Amino acid sequence: MSDFDTIIIGAGIGGMSAAIRLAAAGQKILLLEKNEKPGGKMAELRSAGAEINSAEGESGSSEFRWDLGPSVITMRHVFEELFETAGRKLEDYLDLQPVEPLTRYFYQDGTLLDISQNLPKTLSQIEEIGNREDVEGYLAYLAYAARIHRITGPVFIYDQPPTPASFLRVPLWEMPRVDPFRTMHGAIKSFVKSTHLRQLLGRFATYVGGSPYLAPATLNVIAHVELNGGVFYPTGGIYKIAEAYQTLCEELGVEIRTDQAVEEILVSGNGYVQGVRVDGEAVLAQQVVANVDVATVYDKLLPHTAAIEKKRVKLQAAEPSCSGFVLLLGVKSDQGSAGPQLCHHNIFFSQDYEREFEQIFGEGAMPDDPTIYVAITSKADEHHAPEGHENWFVLVNAPALDGSKWDWEQKAADYRNLVINKLKAHGVDLDGRIVVEKMLTPADIQEMTGAFRGALYGTSSNDKWAAFRRPHNKCAEVEGLYFCGGTTHPGGGVPMVTLSGKVAAEMILSRH
Ligand SMILES: Cc1cc2nc3c(=O)[nH]c(=O)nc-3n(C[C@H](O)[C@H](O)[C@H](O)COP(=O)(O)OP(=O)(O)OC[C@H]3O[C@@H](n4cnc5c(N)ncnc54)[C@H](O)[C@@H]3O)c2cc1C
Repeated sequence: MSDFDTIIIGAGIGGMSAAIRLAAAGQKILLLEKNEKPGGKMAELRSAGAEINSAEGESGSSEFRWDLGPSVITMRHVFEELFETAGRKLEDYLDLQPVEPLTRYFYQDGTLLDISQNLPKTLSQIEEIGNREDVEGYLAYLAYAARIHRITGPVFIYDQPPTPASFLRVPLWEMPRVDPFRTMHGAIKSFVKSTHLRQLLGRFATYVGGSPYLAPATLNVIAHVELNGGVFYPTGGIYKIAEAYQTLCEELGVEIRTDQAVEEILVSGNGYVQGVRVDGEAVLAQQVVANVDVATVYDKLLPHTAAIEKKRVKLQAAEPSCSGFVLLLGVKSDQGSAGPQLCHHNIFFSQDYEREFEQIFGEGAMPDDPTIYVAITSKADEHHAPEGHENWFVLVNAPALDGSKWDWEQKAADYRNLVINKLKAHGVDLDGRIVVEKMLTPADIQEMTGAFRGALYGTSSNDKWAAFRRPHNKCAEVEGLYFCGGTTHPGGGVPMVTLSGKVAAEMILSRH
């Protein structure tokens, strides 16, 4: 007799999404989370915490607050649909506001470009920095990316994992329009001439941890969800999304146990899941959903039968998406200074974008001249920093860990200085302005989140077959075991992992 219908391992966004859908369908759910709080990679940190190092010896009495993982939220409709499944309205749980401008882009030649929700505003800036043809090219690119979304959405994003059979649902004449054979960059340069615009549009490859010079042009679909759909921010911070999912889980009767690391997934001799072992005790269920990195499940949680061992080796050999180097900075505001004004989302571009990705993916090294992303939630939520200060989340793409090529222990402090100096070269002088700071290397990200090799978005998307190779949401070796989260279909990112929970839940519900 099972204790629960379904046990979910991990209260990341994907795990909570699956829990909401299964509980809304009447299942008895146990959600086990090894950390103190749900959210997984979506986490928050406050400077009052003991871990913060103060560069100026301040005690931390005035509090900064940062979101640690995701900062850019797109695809509002995915969140609305999740709450609707449970008979609720998103706006009763989250105040998801559009961000304007979507992002402010800074180039090394001093060019500044705001990409806005307001298309005419964006187009007039594109005309200023480029030429009239690029205005038409940008519009044609937006239509092209929207078309890819229309064609691929039902097969690759919003439904069960793609198979050769499901791919055949795409009408024959539409297939070339999915553009799988060019690279993202190859397609982008056919639309716009400005190197600034090419760099800007190529950047969307990094939303799945890839390179625009390697990833298939199909991934230009990511630009559609941001440029046509907009960027959103939940008032109070990104972590409000995790809290909203948690609240809904609790309202639906999901039993959440935190500080509970699952030690083993229990499997019968004939290959059926039986439950999990946690704190040395067996807890039984008809199904188990793992919201843990799939490579880790095969490595650490499943019995090593021949079939599982074979899959484990395959998963460990797969190329990971990129990782990140993060600086959390408490910064004195620069009101009145002559430097460039930052907004909520800011990108400081490298000079040679191709070289940057060659270093990350080809050489496994940190780029000499990185593109730097800075998110400042205190622009929207003043109380995220003490008066006269701001909370900066600084992110640079980094190679995933592979044990040898980049020695973070030796090089982290120097790389931190390189990032600060690069910002200075862009006119953003942080001398004497940093009052609190904390650094996260890929090894820290791996340690904190369980992400295999510190990869932010699971396996690499730098390959046109990646969508087919990504682990399915149903385990092939153990009956009754399912997967959700960024390392499984449809991929990484907050809306996508929310959808992965939907796919896993639908598979379970159709089992009975
Ligand atoms: C630095 C960074 C920046 C990012 N930026 C963005 C962004 O701007 N926009 C965006 O959409 N996405 C972004 N992402 C990606 C996004 O955060 C993830 O795709 C998403 O949050 C992952 O959710 P998940 O469901 O895969 O679960 P995870 O967040 O991976 O959570 C898995 C959970 O399982 C728990 N767990 C693991 N092992 C066990 C065990 N044995 N027993 C019990 N519990 C266990 C973990 O503690 C964790 O809580 C970013 C990620 C990072 C790290």
